[in-house]
Amino acid sequence: MFQRIKETIDNGRKFLVTSHVDPDGDAVGSAFALCLALTGLGKDAAVYLQDAVPYRYRFLPRPAAVHHELPEDGYDAVFVVDCGDLRRVGNGHESLGHKSFLVNIDHHESNDAFGQINIVDERASSTAEILYLVLKSLGVRFTGDIATNLYTAVITDTGSFRYDNTTERAFSICREMVGFGVSPVHVAANVYENHPKERFQLLCLVLATLETLSDDRIALALVTGDMFSRTHTSAEHSEGFVEYLKEIDSVEVACLLRETAHGKYKVSMRSKNGVDVASVARSLGGGGHRKAAGCTMEGDLDTIKNILIGAFSL
Ligand code: AMP
Ligand code: MN
Ligand code: MN
Repeated sequence: MFQRIKETIDNGRKFLVTSHVDPDGDAVGSAFALCLALTGLGKDAAVYLQDAVPYRYRFLPRPAAVHHELPEDGYDAVFVVDCGDLRRVGNGHESLGHKSFLVNIDHHESNDAFGQINIVDERASSTAEILYLVLKSLGVRFTGDIATNLYTAVITDTGSFRYDNTTERAFSICREMVGFGVSPVHVAANVYENHPKERFQLLCLVLATLETLSDDRIALALVTGDMFSRTHTSAEHSEGFVEYLKEIDSVEVACLLRETAHGKYKVSMRSKNGVDVASVARSLGGGGHRKAAGCTMEGDLDTIKNILIGAFSL
């Protein structure tokens, strides 16, 4: 399987690497690592991310070219990392789908194999873990910059080795990356201890909306556009809030609804044990993993909540 990627890279000169909207650590880290690796192989490579890099990932060593508008065509191949379906790329995904040779590298169970080449392993902790194997097979030299990106991607997607995608291989890749010069304390300080105080002002407002349902097995909270304006924050400041809801002992499923436009919500779902939130998210037009998934919903808030509560069957 990796042989076809090698041929694609050997036979091409110009590549684009892209990932999903609202990029997380795996999206940014995997895209940057792959782009830096391609450049290291003497190729012309650039990254396209629809959205800005969230503040907590701005310390990541970045490639020379990171675009937030889809660049002109003319790429020998486009690598799409950490996206279960091509729509997750956001603006420009249609034109990529029509015109480009797509290499899909991902770990979502819901991945619909949209690429001409598809390297999808839902058992991988992160896309970065698959990418590590791809880069090894290509004989890439792991610089400190590539290692920092891969390490950050693995630790963020495993919740710092707390989620059940935390495997021996996830640890061993991180161990190897530390050998290539990664400083775990530097990464942790940037990712986890670098928030503006406004994030906590926003958190106060969000926690005030917390409700628990179904014998406290479901936790729901809301972030509105008004809360963002009152605290001078934006979506990037609410990343990870849903994880707090999951910390309640009785909670099986945590849900954070973030208003993206009037009557439109991005739903983030997290499950602790039995509930498969990926299948719930898929049934609502989204996707994700068994224990972390998301979708977009429109309409009246109470109706949305009722649909969600019904779908979890708790
Ligand atoms: P989030 O709640 O945004 O952190 O996302 C959790 C997981 O669900 C990630 O693996 C995402 O890739 C996936 N996900 C989130 N939102 C969507 C969506 N609208 N469509 C498909 N997958 C999503
Ligand atoms: Mn992701
Ligand atoms: Mn991922």
